[in-house]
Amino acid sequence: MTAGSMKLEINTAQLSSEIETLARFSDAPAPAVTRVVFSQQDLRAREYVKDLCAAAGLAIREDPVGNTFARWSGSEPDLPAVATGSHIDAIPNAGAYDGTVGVLGGLEAIRALQLTGFRPRRSIELIVFSAEEPTRFGIGCFASRMMAGLLKGAFVRDRDGKHLDDWRAEAGFRGGTAGVRLPAGYYHAFIELHIEQGPLLERAGIPIGVVTAIAAPATLRITIEGEGGHAGAVLMPDRRDAFCAAAEIALAVERAARSTRALDTVGTVGICDVFPGAVNSIPSRVRLEVDARDIDLARRDRVLEGIREAGQEIADRRSVSVNIETVNADEPATCDPDVVEVLCRAAAAHDLRFQRMVSRAYHDSLFMSRIAPTAMLFIPCRGGVSHRPDEYASPDAIAAGALVLAEALADLSAR
Ligand SMILES: [Zn+2]
Repeated sequence: MTAGSMKLEINTAQLSSEIETLARFSDAPAPAVTRVVFSQQDLRAREYVKDLCAAAGLAIREDPVGNTFARWSGSEPDLPAVATGSHIDAIPNAGAYDGTVGVLGGLEAIRALQLTGFRPRRSIELIVFSAEEPTRFGIGCFASRMMAGLLKGAFVRDRDGKHLDDWRAEAGFRGGTAGVRLPAGYYHAFIELHIEQGPLLERAGIPIGVVTAIAAPATLRITIEGEGGHAGAVLMPDRRDAFCAAAEIALAVERAARSTRALDTVGTVGICDVFPGAVNSIPSRVRLEVDARDIDLARRDRVLEGIREAGQEIADRRSVSVNIETVNADEPATCDPDVVEVLCRAAAAHDLRFQRMVSRAYHDSLFMSRIAPTAMLFIPCRGGVSHRPDEYASPDAIAAGALVLAEALADLSAR
């Protein structure tokens, strides 16, 4: 039976109240939410979500870094499962909806399916990723990176040098981190429901976004070394001003990003540290950090190449040294066309308008896409605002997302 023939109903009031309750596990006063991975509030929030999953009859497993899996067993439990999920960690002074909508909305989708009497052929699994935000360990999505085999636990430390192994042991998660990696083919499909964190759906008055590609950032750390000196005494022809070189590099970043003529290419210089940083002293050293993103890896790499070439030219012309270090360069993802199609059909089946779109922020889905056919489902959020206490998605908007998710999970789990 298809889910379309079932009477799928989302319990909007219950889902809203669970999102409100989850928001109370916070180290910041309401309406702000601060919930950093492995903090006491994070651990309490995990208990709350696990209790809800247990009440829905789901079987719970936790891996050695705290990724949580809640499974509704299918009639053929040996087949690769269909998964959905997101994260419940929140950066300092954030809101109540980023990530949590995909976790509690995913759980509600499962409960709605259960109430129709539907029995999945493939198991359906809700994943709560241990941490999406980089707050604690300085790297976004460390737990899904490990699931996909892209990151080894040995390299994960917090800013004070405290190792992931110590953090997870204190939080009660044991076992070797090699066990976090999921085998190829473990999931038949993965869908992440998430607030858009941008204004497009709200502006267009469209309730559902089906994500076809996820942009990925590359970060460059650029150090420019020139020669310092007295701002009055050193004459202009004799200067090797590191900041003036950095300013040219910043403009070169903008030029490189614009040169692709694609709206999906963006380049930003977000950090500029000037040394020694005195008004009467010529800057001798500058550190820039550059973020360049695209949904097309080759195009983004051409931007990085353009920045490198400009850096070399500026270094030669100004007699300064320019050192460019790649901090990270994740690959963008194209969503799985079949899963995208399933999501479009699911929205249409419930007369919900949808549009295909790009995710400009990255999510755990970026890394899940390396090991499973993956797509994302976006719902509008007020003003496109996220990572702020006034982040908001309406109960009806969330319910619409959960409904489409339930329909899509039913479809995929029956195949
Ligand atoms: Zn998120």
